[in-house]
This record gives sequence, structure tokens and C-alpha cells, in this order.
Amino acid sequence: MFETLKEQPADKILALMQVYRDDPRPEKIDLGVGVYKNAEGVTPVMRAIKAAEKQLWETETTKSYTGLAGDPAFADAMIDLVLGGSVARGNIAAAATPGGTGAVRQGFDMVKLANVGARVFYSDPTWPNHLSILKHMGLEQVPYRYFDEDTRGVDFDGMMADLAKAGAGDIVLLHGCCHNPTGANLTQIQWQEVVALLQKTGATPMIDIAYQGFGDGLEDDAYGVRLVASSVPECLIAASCSKNFGVYRERTGLIMAVSADSARQKINQGTLSFLNRQNYSFPPDHGARLVTMVLTDPALRADWAAELEEVRQSMLGLRTQLASELQRLSGSDRFAFIGQHRGMFSRLGTTSDMVDKLRDEHAIYMVGDSRLNIAGLNTQTVPILAEAIIKVGI
Ligand code: PMP
Repeated sequence: MFETLKEQPADKILALMQVYRDDPRPEKIDLGVGVYKNAEGVTPVMRAIKAAEKQLWETETTKSYTGLAGDPAFADAMIDLVLGGSVARGNIAAAATPGGTGAVRQGFDMVKLANVGARVFYSDPTWPNHLSILKHMGLEQVPYRYFDEDTRGVDFDGMMADLAKAGAGDIVLLHGCCHNPTGANLTQIQWQEVVALLQKTGATPMIDIAYQGFGDGLEDDAYGVRLVASSVPECLIAASCSKNFGVYRERTGLIMAVSADSARQKINQGTLSFLNRQNYSFPPDHGARLVTMVLTDPALRADWAAELEEVRQSMLGLRTQLASELQRLSGSDRFAFIGQHRGMFSRLGTTSDMVDKLRDEHAIYMVGDSRLNIAGLNTQTVPILAEAIIKVGI
């Protein structure tokens, strides 16, 4: 029977990781995969997570099942982190999921259950997994213009023109902050305009927020998601704890469904629990428990927020250094966008030939669409990258 199966396309970023590992050149630089790395190239366990883990080991008395939607304390803590007080708690249904990917998947599953004919409008480009999950699920995908290849900023006029075509029963998929893969983000005024358009068209927003705290800070990064959630009758929010808590492999995420009243919330909550049961039953708990402990213990929370701020500042510092190094070498401002982008990624906006050249001639690895992971750099490698960019003629 399995002879009917065809080879599945390899994940490009994971395939690139393998090529990098096999490269014997000692000076190689990995700007590919989307994990945070410190100046030593290490993805550390955050201090507060480590402390919570120790506490948990000492106090945990059972590994028995939690609820189908996970521990409600995790949902409460994450809803507070992502949405602040912008929406009444009684209007929010939520379920713990295996990572942000699980949250995205469960969100799409809820959409499909509600309206199998829903069209999902996605930013062009978007995180490739959005599209492969949608394809796998058979949901219709519609791109909306997002990245302006000339300015390397948001093509806001194009975006608004395309989103005007989404209507009631459609989904508009937005990145809450730190857009992956471009690093180009909406301003607060632009978020307000998107909200006004959503109110006009009646399309349902779904916000993927995977990098809260990596851009302009925990509160500023939540501006868009809070504005949307408090301004439209319904929305979905998929949150990941992988990056901002550094718990990648623990698979920790939350899907939230915001509705206009508590009667609808009850049905949504039942739906999310039902979908968890169909797909994997109880969600993983270890990472969720650590995150809950960190968020609800004032000392752990303060230490976590401080470390996250150090991470954010270090990425901002690398951005500033790279932009000014490129300004010096090129004698122009055409790389200033690197300092304006936010989050872990920037799209250089060059051809795949140039990306290949950087890899072949300079052992610098980035994703084929010219996405580079800023956190893969350190103060010593920034000048090396800048020189290589100029040398290959980008
Ligand atoms: N959404 C976006 C936009 C992402 O970049 C990522 C991480 N690559 C995720 C969701 C999900 O990450 P995870 O499943 O590791 O939590």
C-alpha cells in the first residue's frame, strides 16, 4: 500500500542545516535556521527556565494527564502576556498546543471546521510552514502583497489593496511582530488601518505571534495583536513560547479564539478541546508548566524579562553594527533597512545566485530567499559578512 506514496519535498531550511554541518571550512557562518544564538553561538536555556525546572523537579508529584486544553493556568498566564487586559477573559477560548506550529495547525483546523471554503490570505512572503500546512489541509491560499523589494519595507498600499478582497468567511493571516522571513513590520498607524479594513470587510484575522519580546519589547510587540483582538468580533491567535522562553524542543504554544460573548466562547473552548483530542489528545505539559511558573512568580518573571531584553538588545546591536559597516563599505544608505527591521530575521532582497555565492565563496549560509538570521552573527563576524556582501556585489 505504501508504494502509492511519493517522496515529500524536504524542508529547505532543515536541508540547509545539514549542508552547513557537512561543510569542513572552519570559518563557516550559519545564518540559516531560526533559533536564537548568543555571541558564543549557543542557544542557551534561559536562567528563569532553568530555575523553574529545578523547582519543578523538587515539587512535581505526578505526571498524570492535564486537561485536553492543557493546564488552565498556562492559558491564563499566556493570555495575560499576549493580550494584556485588551479582551475580557470570558470571551477567550484557549488550548495548549505542541509549539506555535501546533497552535497554527489547530487554528487552521478550527477554520476548516467552521468554513471548509474559507480562503486564507497570507503575506507574500510568509513563513513557509504556513503554506505547507494549508496545502496539506486543503485550505485555499491567497497571497497578499507585503514586502517591497525596492525599499525592503512593507508594501502597505499593495497589502491594503489585496486585503480589501478578503470578505466574511475568509481568514487574514498576520504576523503579530518580527515578520518571518522579511523582518519588515507594520507601524502602529498601519495596524490601525488594517483593523479599520478588517472591520469594513468582515474578514476574520488570525495572528501568528512567535517572537514577542524580540522586536521592540514585550509590550510594543503585542500592540497589533491587542488592537486587533479588541476591535473585531472574532479572531484567532497562535502564540509560540519557543523563542521568547527558549523552550524550542519542549513544544510549547497556545491557540486562542476570541469571540464577542461568553456563549460563543463556550462553544469555541469545546471546539479547541475537541480538536486537541482528535489530533493528539492531551498537549505536552512540561514546557507549558515552566512558562507558567516563570510568568506567575514575580522574581522569575523579572529575571526572564531582563534576560529577554538582553537578547533583544544584542540583536539590535548587531543590526546597527551591520547596517553601519555596510554603509561604510558601500558608501550608501541602501542597507539602512537592516537597522530598521525587527526580530531575528532580515531579508536582504537579493537573488538566490548571490545567496549561493555567499555560501560557496565565503562559507556564509543563509536561506535561499536571502533571509538571514541576525542572531547567527556576533561582533566579530559582522564585518566578515559585510565585506562578503559587498564583494559578491549585492
Ligand atoms: N510562526 C512563525 C512565524 C515562526 O517563525 C515559527 C518558528 N519558526 C512558528 C510559528 C512556530 O514555532 P514553534 O512551533 O517552534 O513554536
